[in-house]
Amino acid sequence: MELKDKTIIITGASSGIGAAAAILFAAEGAHVVLGARRGSELDKIADQISHKGGKAVTLAGDVNDEQYSKALVDLAQSEFGALNGAFNNAGILGEMGPIPDMSADSWNTVISTNLTSAFFASKYQIPAMEQNGGGSIVFTSSFVGYSNSGMPGMGAYAASKAGLIGLTLSLAAQHGQQKIRVNALLPGGTKTPATGDDASVHEFFATLHELKRMAEPTEIAQSALFLLSDRASFVTGSAVNADGGASSRLV
Ligand code: NAP
Repeated sequence: MELKDKTIIITGASSGIGAAAAILFAAEGAHVVLGARRGSELDKIADQISHKGGKAVTLAGDVNDEQYSKALVDLAQSEFGALNGAFNNAGILGEMGPIPDMSADSWNTVISTNLTSAFFASKYQIPAMEQNGGGSIVFTSSFVGYSNSGMPGMGAYAASKAGLIGLTLSLAAQHGQQKIRVNALLPGGTKTPATGDDASVHEFFATLHELKRMAEPTEIAQSALFLLSDRASFVTGSAVNADGGASSRLV
């Protein structure tokens, strides 16, 4: 029960890493507030959690909308009395390809969904955690755009995910005295709908990792669990790799 009675917001909870995190965190005693656009998928996850005796509420919305970030915090407080943690995990790959061929709209969609959403989230989560004497925020970044992991055709995605690391450092420095820890989690290639089920794509990802396989969503959720739990009480301002060794490679 690593998260017993902690209230945690999870975005991107309708699928992949976020759905695995919702189930894992609830099993570890958290009260979870689940966000994503597809409300019907969120409700399925919440049903699974409540059938096992856990506590989950859902709110469908778009992380590009500032008011949605506020509404998730309001829901956490009204339903469970406080906000202790947030796994800001919703994200998209967006358009892939060379930057000279990319439209400004495609660029802006990725930056808004993956990075501006983190600004909205922290803007409302931090005051709520401060009221409660502290908390823990985790952003899902990526190995893409980080150490040794430049990837062709992923400029907007890499920029958005690297931007999350800069935001993490600044927030951790600003809010450490308020006992709010902020960390970025950098998954490697993980088997989710975002990476599809094409065996050749899976094989490509596997070769990038020293462990020579892709991650299961629950393995990434376990790292998020650690960062949100009191076991990580002295971990803040970190870019935590859960990438099978991808970023340790010498290229
Ligand atoms: P996924 O299964 O496609 O999940 C993405 C989640 O984000 C879904 O729940 C989706 O829900 C939600 N989402 C997307 N756009 C949204 C929006 N505008 N508003 C609200 N929710 C939105 O992919 P995943 O692999 O689990 O990705 C989770 C996170 O891990 C992402 O940030 C991704 O960049 C990151 N990541 C993934 C990998 C990987 O290899 N899979 C590696 C490194 C980092 P709805 O469609 O219902 O809105």
